[in-house]
Amino acid sequence: MLNVDLHCHSRVSDGALTPSDVAARAKAGGVDVWALTDHDEIDGIPEAREAAKALGMHYVTGVEISVTWAARTVHIVGLRFDEKNRDLAAGLKNTRSGRERRAREMAAQLAEAGIPHAFEGALKYVGNPDLISRTHFARYIVELGVCKDVSEVFGNYLIDGKPGFVPHRWATLKNAVDWIRGAGGIAVVAHPGRYDFDDLELDVFLSEFKRHGGVGVEVVTGSHTEEEYARFATVAKNYNLLASRGSDFHGPGESHTELGALPPLPASVVPVWHDWRL
Ligand code: AMP
Ligand code: MN
Ligand code: MN
Ligand code: MN
Repeated sequence: MLNVDLHCHSRVSDGALTPSDVAARAKAGGVDVWALTDHDEIDGIPEAREAAKALGMHYVTGVEISVTWAARTVHIVGLRFDEKNRDLAAGLKNTRSGRERRAREMAAQLAEAGIPHAFEGALKYVGNPDLISRTHFARYIVELGVCKDVSEVFGNYLIDGKPGFVPHRWATLKNAVDWIRGAGGIAVVAHPGRYDFDDLELDVFLSEFKRHGGVGVEVVTGSHTEEEYARFATVAKNYNLLASRGSDFHGPGESHTELGALPPLPASVVPVWHDWRL
């Protein structure tokens, strides 16, 4: 059976490794079919593709787009698009804009909470000045010894109601799906278990996602529990959505899940790659 990992990050967004180092780690983890899915950014694709090719992995273009839907942040993964598409590039650029201003506001809040110089501290971890993310702040807060790891930071800082949280308006769901489809790709809901949707909210969300032309949902991801694998396998079946699998790897010692290490998709679902020539 093919080992498919269609979700992970490099320094081009908030991962800790270069695209080539992520590729090497995927290969070492036994991955056969691989996509790098940096947040709101596709600049890592040429390096990722070349590294994958040299290692003998099947490469798929990828991105993870930040979306604001019903006042929450959701993530939409795009796969198998043409990365030279102008509308996609422009849409992502627009989605990235505003991250620096948001980061400065986050730093101001953290300073008031007793963590000064967080903007400069986070910048030390940033590989792409266009993409300062909460993850970079989290790494700096760990460096200071304020929290023992990134997970602990996301329990006490940077989330709604805690210091360092600045709400942000990302792309619309329709825009994100349109950009991906317009570039010839397919749109997949990333880690649906992370949004605290009850069944009704999930129904409204998935109905709208499908109406815009979205076709898939992540079932087995590093962000889901085993119960969620089962819940979203059922959701995929009931909504006639294809199922995806991805580690959401961000860096050694930081992610719960290594590249390629998750269980396979349940037999009851249709994989997003069912009709790919592999
Ligand atoms: P941003 O796009 O700047 O809002 O940052 C979002 C990123 O923060 C996600 O892509 C994750 O990498 C990270 N993140 C969010 N929540 C958590 C969490 N509970 N544990 C670890 N990382 C998280
Ligand atoms: Mn991330
Ligand atoms: Mn995500
Ligand atoms: Mn991700």
